[in-house]
Amino acid sequence: MSTLSLRAIKKQFERTEVLHGIDLEVAQGEFVVFVGPSGCGKSTLLRCIAGLEEISSGELLIDGQAMNDVPPAERGLAMVFQSYALYPHMTVAENMSFGLRLANTPKAEIERAVAAAAEVLRITPLLQRYPAQLSGGQRQRVAIGRAIVRRPGIFLFDEPLSNLDAALRTEMRVEMARLHATLGATIIYVTHDQAEAMTLANRIVVFNGGRIEQSGPPLALYRRPANLFVAGFLGSPK
Ligand code: ADP
Ligand code: MG
Repeated sequence: MSTLSLRAIKKQFERTEVLHGIDLEVAQGEFVVFVGPSGCGKSTLLRCIAGLEEISSGELLIDGQAMNDVPPAERGLAMVFQSYALYPHMTVAENMSFGLRLANTPKAEIERAVAAAAEVLRITPLLQRYPAQLSGGQRQRVAIGRAIVRRPGIFLFDEPLSNLDAALRTEMRVEMARLHATLGATIIYVTHDQAEAMTLANRIVVFNGGRIEQSGPPLALYRRPANLFVAGFLGSPK
């Protein structure tokens, strides 16, 4: 079980409030996509959920448990960023197992976890290579692999494909959908790519200036945007 509840989440940096009270319920296994203009607070909200930023007010619950004061490593989630720095001096397998080794996970268990994640991501033949010997798409898979090995119930993706070229992005989009189906995990995914949002999401949440403008299944938003802003974002002719 991995559900998320956001209740009146506000975030301030110095005296500037950038999230003005976000309410959102995410169900187990749901693929929720955040869209909205640059600077509207998508990354900040993900970082608050991950525990990389402190929430100024409001409540965050995972599986019904209050998370506001729980350290990132104990929240049962993993975050994958747009720029996914791999350790250049470590092999793919070592990059993927780094977190588990830090946590003193038994060696046999680490090997099993890395092998299973590599299979899901189809990078088994690459495990002994170094990052410099990989393509952009392969590196991105390794970055996702690092998140998967810890078997989190919730994945947070912040524009994970935006550094890839168009062809690779399309290919990885299919991989993301497959990954979601295979892992059965709850996913929150930020993108500025409309096609990515429309094809991946069970639900799209449209942000504007630190608020949720509208949220719903892709087709519902496309057919019945609440206003011109949402229509503009989803490419509807309204
Ligand atoms: P998005 O991901 O939607 O592009 P962000 O969450 O990155 O937006 O940023 C939301 C707002 O918060 C922006 O105005 C940004 O300048 C501000 N902001 C983000 N991080 C910080 C920070 N560490 N300190 C001060 N302001 C920040
Ligand atoms: Mg961002």
